[in-house]
Amino acid sequence: APALPPARHLFSDPAEVEALRANLLAWYDRCKRNLPWRALAATEPDADRRGYAVWVSEIMLQQTQVATVIDYYNRWMQKWPTLQALAQASLEEVNELWAGLGYYSRGKRLQEAARKVVSELAGRMPRTAEDLQKLLPGVGRYTAGAIASISYGQATGVVDGNVIRVLCRLRCVGADSSSPSVIDQLWDMANVLVDRSRPGDFNQALMELGATVCVPKAPLCGQCPVKQHCQAWRRKLFGKPPPVPDVEDCGVGDCPLCPPATEPWDSSLGVTNFPRKAAKKPPRAMRTATCVLERRGCHGAPEYLIVQRPSSGLLAGLWEFPSVPLAQDLKEEKERQELADHLQAWMEQPVAAKGLQFIGEVIHIFSHIHQTYVVYSLYLDGDVTLDPALSPSRWVTEEEFHASAVSTAMKKV
Ligand code: SF4
Repeated sequence: APALPPARHLFSDPAEVEALRANLLAWYDRCKRNLPWRALAATEPDADRRGYAVWVSEIMLQQTQVATVIDYYNRWMQKWPTLQALAQASLEEVNELWAGLGYYSRGKRLQEAARKVVSELAGRMPRTAEDLQKLLPGVGRYTAGAIASISYGQATGVVDGNVIRVLCRLRCVGADSSSPSVIDQLWDMANVLVDRSRPGDFNQALMELGATVCVPKAPLCGQCPVKQHCQAWRRKLFGKPPPVPDVEDCGVGDCPLCPPATEPWDSSLGVTNFPRKAAKKPPRAMRTATCVLERRGCHGAPEYLIVQRPSSGLLAGLWEFPSVPLAQDLKEEKERQELADHLQAWMEQPVAAKGLQFIGEVIHIFSHIHQTYVVYSLYLDGDVTLDPALSPSRWVTEEEFHASAVSTAMKKV
């Protein structure tokens, strides 16, 4: 069995744990933000509806800011207030509502999982974190813990990015916080800390603290409700690790949770010495040529051609202007030609490369891709027949374009 980490990194004093819980919960009761999913979780008497309401919020909040999620969440819950309603929706409707929120596979998986609950679990949400994770596709350890603690009162901890930051600071964890062994230790800490009588509020309080006080760059330690329990804060004040009674200091270099010996505490960083992560891989650079094809519609208004992306991979199933990925470092002339060839295959008629009008470049950052769209436009005079063997396509007005399941990147284009 792996050795237990040195006690200075653990929450081993029950009195301290009690005090930390009480301080954090009191602060949460005073300062928490009013968010629609919190109101639903607190007032919805039906357990399945409560679980569903929390589940939707947790999936939307993965990788997306609270301020952005609120409007999407309200519209989603209005359109599909129950699992049963969501199970009957089409993927196209889900994508349309999700458009602009990013990471589109989240909406698709949520809907697939809702169908599973309705068809295989008689519409009843699993009630524990273990069952939620086991039975619902797309529900990982964090989401399962959040739903079970907030909706069903299970005393189980959660670890997300905010919790990682707070725990690493509270216990001076400076080893790589993305490594599986450190993450396991943080889950153990979260499970020790979680308040037994108010687990959902406690977990939300810990995340709220990370989101509003113990923020990444300039944490507001002076206003922090748990600063007296924070070893990083005390270390900043006193310049050395706080003494822990009856515990020997971690040995330099061989503690699994201390910063590596080559990168010791940097006093200019203060509490932001923690957490530490191995350097991220830089995003991959991609170039795509895209063409806004325009024609005069039957009522005289301009219409634009959009085509559907494949049903798996990046932006699966979303609609876009006809686009073709480009090799890096092509000459402008060659890029234009590649796009013309691509359009020609679509329209089964010759497209002259020099007829494409260059509009500009649009940069969009996906989490792991630095994407440049090279944008052209082409006005079509006569009618065109599109090859029906290719991806689905349709002509839309500007208004219809904005209501379609198109990505933020395409809206920029
Ligand atoms: Fe975070 Fe500062 Fe509070 Fe410690 S005292 S938990 S570093 S905000």
